[in-house]
Amino acid sequence: MKSSSIMRSEQPNRRILIVDDNKVIHDDFLKILQPQVEPDAMSLTRSNLFGESSNPSRLDPFQVDCVDQGGAGLVLARRAREEGFPYAVAFVDMRMPPGWDGLETIERLWEVDAELQVVICTAFSDRPWEEIAKRIGQSDKLLILQKPFNSIEVSQLATALCRKWDLAHEVAGQLDELNRQVDKRTAELQGANEKLTQTNADLVRTVVDLEVAQAEILRQNDALERLASRDPLTGCFNRRAFYIQFETAFAESREHNIELCCLMVDIDHFKRINDQFGHAVGDQAIQAVAGCLGAGLRLTDTVGRYGGEEFCLMFPCTTLAEAPDLAERIRIQIETEAGERVRAAPRLVITVSCGISSTALGARTPLELIDQADKALYAAKEGGRNCVMVLDPIIAGTNASDQCEPQVRRITPRVSSPPMFR
Ligand SMILES: [Mg+2]
Repeated sequence: MKSSSIMRSEQPNRRILIVDDNKVIHDDFLKILQPQVEPDAMSLTRSNLFGESSNPSRLDPFQVDCVDQGGAGLVLARRAREEGFPYAVAFVDMRMPPGWDGLETIERLWEVDAELQVVICTAFSDRPWEEIAKRIGQSDKLLILQKPFNSIEVSQLATALCRKWDLAHEVAGQLDELNRQVDKRTAELQGANEKLTQTNADLVRTVVDLEVAQAEILRQNDALERLASRDPLTGCFNRRAFYIQFETAFAESREHNIELCCLMVDIDHFKRINDQFGHAVGDQAIQAVAGCLGAGLRLTDTVGRYGGEEFCLMFPCTTLAEAPDLAERIRIQIETEAGERVRAAPRLVITVSCGISSTALGARTPLELIDQADKALYAAKEGGRNCVMVLDPIIAGTNASDQCEPQVRRITPRVSSPPMFR
């Protein structure tokens, strides 16, 4: 066995394996694939003059190993593959007694090296091609060389098949590189995708946090709005918030020509309650009256704490014929219930005086309407307290040019004033 090796990464693969039971055939192959050429006269002269090598320059010489049995060829092919320097081409004899024949040898060789290019060397008396093709199958890595072979044919087969092996190897390398690039790019895209997914999740969390914060802000705004618009003692609208709503209702009343009534309520003898029972009881009295006012309202009505012991109510879509009854019911409810709500002063009787006005009297501003109700309230105080007075339009004359002159009318029947204690 003659052996040589090549570095696959540095030069083309020129490794050739000869499997033939006839040693003379080995020599024939070596003469063809590794010819020893005598240096010519010119080469010798150049060598003597310039010190150059006198060997003929021969590009990519074949590296040839020869064995006489298929089993030995398999050992070499497996080792070459394992060492990273596989054979490019194998020339395999068809008949090699006593071992495997050429077909079995080829099958075994391809089991350890599927890329090996094979030339099967056969005589006319050997098996026909149809039988070979049936056993091996159609393969582009198998050629047939008829014995006796000529040297040019062998040389060209070796050159062409080694080149074919190199090209296939290059293509495989390029495919590997492409796959590596695809894997790298895929990994980068997966990384980018994971980052995007993470960023998206962060954004979703941020949005949820913002929504929670926004809901909290709205809740606090509501609380602030309530604090800003409500009287802390009674929970009624404070004077400013009440007046804003009153202005709106007044404007709507004028726009749609619908009557709006205003009721002013003032706690009777409040100073006396304060002086006699203290400010804490006074506060409870105010809360009690506010409670009765709130309980007596319809959904459309609004009550505001207008001053210390004074409340202002508005009755939208209510006529001057309807409002006095509403006011009288509220007055009676306060007279009968408010005192009972003040636990610190048992049997205390709380009464209120009430004044009513209506947009039917021609008030041009909300304040004018409130002033008219205040005027009726003043009349109620003057009229003995614990009563409802309404400002009525009275026609002074019969001519159309006559002005409407408001006049106070008492709603509550006259009775003796109730005691402050039952
Ligand atoms: Mg033979």
